Amino acid sequence: MSESLEDLTQAVLNFRDERNWAQFHGLRHLMVSLNLEASEVLELAQWKSDAEIEALAGNQELADECADVLAYLLLLANRAGIDLTAALHAKLAKNAQKYPVGKSYGRRDKYSALGEC
Ligand SMILES: [Mg+2]
Repeated sequence: MSESLEDLTQAVLNFRDERNWAQFHGLRHLMVSLNLEASEVLELAQWKSDAEIEALAGNQELADECADVLAYLLLLANRAGIDLTAALHAKLAKNAQKYPVGKSYGRRDKYSALGEC
């Protein structure tokens, strides 16, 4: 995990451009594809027990689907002009406001329910 997001983005852009696929990568198509690939991650859990799902750790098929999700996320962010690093830090700051440690520690409640504790 030593490559930067920029390096990884360039790798998927190169893969795309070598195949002349940018013409198919409008924002809507990338949003759809990202969610379809995320669904393929979920599909790996279909009809499986909790133990079978936990056994997917280290599974190559799960790694492949995670890579597909990341590839489309990088393409989507590139197409939309999103700096994923900045976006993640901004979202973590927002979530820290919504889920203060003092109210959310060890709890799985949605932020809207945390005021009740
Ligand atoms: Mg896939």
